[in-house]
Amino acid sequence: MTLAIALPPAAPKLDALMNVARRPEAVFTHGRGSWLWDSEGRRYLDLVQGWAVNTLGHAPVQISAALAAQSQRLLQPGPGFFNDRAAELASRLASLTGLDRVFFTSSGAEANEGAIKLARKFGQVHRGGAYEIITFENAFHGRTLATMSASGKPGFDRLFAPQVPGFPKARLNDIESVCALIGPNTVAVMLEPIQGEAGVIEATPEFLQALRTVCDQLGLLLIFDEVQTGVGRTGTLWGCEAAGVRPDVMTLGKGLGGGVPIAALLAREKACCFVPGDQGGTYCGNPLMCAVALAVLDAVCAPGFLATVRERGAQLRSGLDAIAQRLGSPSAQGRGLLWALELPEEGAAPRIASALIARARGAEPGLLVNPVRPRRLRFMPALDIGAAELACALALLEEAL
Ligand code: PMP
Repeated sequence: MTLAIALPPAAPKLDALMNVARRPEAVFTHGRGSWLWDSEGRRYLDLVQGWAVNTLGHAPVQISAALAAQSQRLLQPGPGFFNDRAAELASRLASLTGLDRVFFTSSGAEANEGAIKLARKFGQVHRGGAYEIITFENAFHGRTLATMSASGKPGFDRLFAPQVPGFPKARLNDIESVCALIGPNTVAVMLEPIQGEAGVIEATPEFLQALRTVCDQLGLLLIFDEVQTGVGRTGTLWGCEAAGVRPDVMTLGKGLGGGVPIAALLAREKACCFVPGDQGGTYCGNPLMCAVALAVLDAVCAPGFLATVRERGAQLRSGLDAIAQRLGSPSAQGRGLLWALELPEEGAAPRIASALIARARGAEPGLLVNPVRPRRLRFMPALDIGAAELACALALLEEAL
């Protein structure tokens, strides 16, 4: 007979994880709303929120209820079958965007990869094999090989060379630089309405409108990557609303799932040229994640929700602007609840972010912010963060600076 021996729980072995990011020491164990706790019991006010993902903060009741209910009905019949939740979510998104059809994926990169494939298929079917998609310097579209090639993040071009060809780079807000790249192989233009990973850099409404005109005149597809700006993050449901421009193809991710992996590729009927066999994936459109996205949309579309996002956004902006003025920095940049603050010194952003985490001790909270660039801090709180929590975050930031 063998004896079952109960061993004491081992401390988690962090070096069993691949070393793909510089991470602070804290090991997070649980969260609620805008607060996170680590394994040592320290607490943190969180303005990173899963990288602009947790629309309703940590462990929101709407998401646990949706997960619990759906997990008892149906997890995934398989991508070769319809399911009710995916159909419902696709209809909701189509009517909320004015686009016609939806394909679900598990990550933003995978949705963008789908957009790239759709544009190339469109080029094969309608434009004599055209395949080039004009993208932008400093853009970020994901970490698959094609989406890294579409990105303009410095260094991505050499990291896993050779790149996937067909992504000439224009300059944001410079329509001439786009027109100069258009040729017989061009099939689409793809961009973020606000470049998030570049440090929260907005495409101007005039630029987006000019792109719409050029694409209409030449029959090119206009693709908006709204993985970071979609689902209320900028204070309107979609980031492109501020410019009044509707794309032909749009991708969503991050905030759509409020913390669970679901993303979407949406397109106008004229661009929907996939035929059976062209695109798929085991988890695509699984009802468990679709049920969560439906719960997130219910919350974000509830009366008054987006108005409150805009109010909190104005509060965050004025707090950041006051700090910027004292530092002699330019005004904060962003919209809704996606903001960046420029600091006077190169390298100051990671230093301040580390100091804000390290201040967590006993009852004293730490603050999580994202050093998106060596001189820029990015803020992407839960969309339902309270006014008092935001005031507390601004006070902690001010103290650290
Ligand atoms: N597009 C944009 C605009 C993003 O900000 C990101 C993620 N930061 C992605 C795509 C990639 O999304 P994911 O990490 O879910 O693949």
